[in-house]
Amino acid sequence: MENQTSSIVQRSLDALLEDDTFLPDLKGKTREQAFTSLGAILSTPNHVHKSFLRIPLEDGQVVRIPAFRVQHINALGPYKGGIRFHESVNEDEVINLASLMTLKNALHDVPFGGGKGGVVLNPRTHTIKELNLICKKYVRYFNDILGPDKDIPAPDVGSSDREMDWMMSEYKSINPGLPYRGSFTGKSVVNGGSLGRGAATGKGVYFTFRYMIDDFMKKHTNLLSNSDNIFARTVLDYKSRPLTIAVQGFGNVGSVAALEAFNCSQLQNKVIAVSDRNVTLYNAKGLDIPALVKFTLDNNGDLPTTNEQLAQTGVNAELHDREEILFLDVDCIILAALADQIHKGNMDKIKARIIVEGANAPVTSEADNFLSEKGIIIVPDILANAGGVIVSYYEWLQGRETQFYSEEEVFKLLYNKMQSTMDTILPKFFSDPFPLRQNCYIHSVMKLSTVLYRQGKLY
Ligand code: NAD
Repeated sequence: MENQTSSIVQRSLDALLEDDTFLPDLKGKTREQAFTSLGAILSTPNHVHKSFLRIPLEDGQVVRIPAFRVQHINALGPYKGGIRFHESVNEDEVINLASLMTLKNALHDVPFGGGKGGVVLNPRTHTIKELNLICKKYVRYFNDILGPDKDIPAPDVGSSDREMDWMMSEYKSINPGLPYRGSFTGKSVVNGGSLGRGAATGKGVYFTFRYMIDDFMKKHTNLLSNSDNIFARTVLDYKSRPLTIAVQGFGNVGSVAALEAFNCSQLQNKVIAVSDRNVTLYNAKGLDIPALVKFTLDNNGDLPTTNEQLAQTGVNAELHDREEILFLDVDCIILAALADQIHKGNMDKIKARIIVEGANAPVTSEADNFLSEKGIIIVPDILANAGGVIVSYYEWLQGRETQFYSEEEVFKLLYNKMQSTMDTILPKFFSDPFPLRQNCYIHSVMKLSTVLYRQGKLY
């Protein structure tokens, strides 16, 4: 497990060891031994599978492409997690992402364990035929460990419903007669994917922000007003006033989150900046997000980078360097691009008082500690970006039942699940001194520890 994840898990275990109301049957030396076992189990994956996919390229060369499937913990159900197609994929990264999936599923009560896959390649440098073969080979090489009740991959960076359709089809061909619809999620709707899956993560990301600063605040005004907690004071400052929002990353997650913020009638939002791998667009009066979404759909996912392109979209905006978005004076910044965006080198320039992690691990542990001490609320990845895996769970269920839900039903289920998690976590967060990430981890670790203990895994 990477340092940030493992150190917060260990801190959570240390706090729970001292709390004798948690697993009260465990006492004295037995308790210490059980917690040592938990530390070992939670910090290491059950399996790390690695293969080199042999791929004949269309130019006649044969290459061996490294590919991983990491299975972290399956105490709560089959392993579940995306397959990342990126040239920087490496074993440690996949292990860390698999462990985040374990914690994310435990946090939201999704009956899956944690898994993750990776293929070391740049998908833009391969032909469609080669990518199709890479997907088929991935399934062939890892067939024994995959399946609807064993390990269920999904798309991640660099992969999409197209790759999941190919993979499911290969799984079906080589396992005739076995159930196959639940073998992969994030498929196209025509192949058994769920309506709403594409927008689920971005919608969930914005929902966590809106729910915390509005719905929850309205229901718990007394708790917040009477609390001397530093984070309660931060959130109270957001009450009933116009809010400015910036969104880093304008892909699947960021563009949907920006659109949700733009369209939200419950809050008086202005999305004043968005960015992508090329540029930051800024307009203090608010950006026309639907027009920008339309532009990206017609331009390979990229935002306008010149004044001519802006004029063509009818969007009024200033062009800035892509990093500048991070340092704007906004009420909320949604990070929906890459890992490690706010770090030791730039954390003192952050002005937003609420940061929402749409990407996985976009704030490093040093920056996390530094910003949390100043009362800045960081809505962590495992809470904010779980919409994709939650709707994947509903896709898996729909595949088993061969009954399909409307998009409206899917979003209702998604919001209910996220609301239920937030109603469990937030009252404690606004009463104790721990940052939200620590609160979420403690909740996940409690759930996993209890299940592992009850399954007799700690002896
Ligand atoms: P995507 O590829 O659709 O979009 C990524 C966006 O980030 C693009 O707009 C790209 O231009 C931009 N970007 C790349 N480098 C950048 C940089 N240096 N600065 C600013 N912007 C940059 O990816 P996505 O599916 O939207 O995922 C975004 C993040 O969210 C990833 O870290 C992913 O792991 C995480 N995530 C995604 C999902 C999901 O369901 N898609 C679920 C959980 C977590």
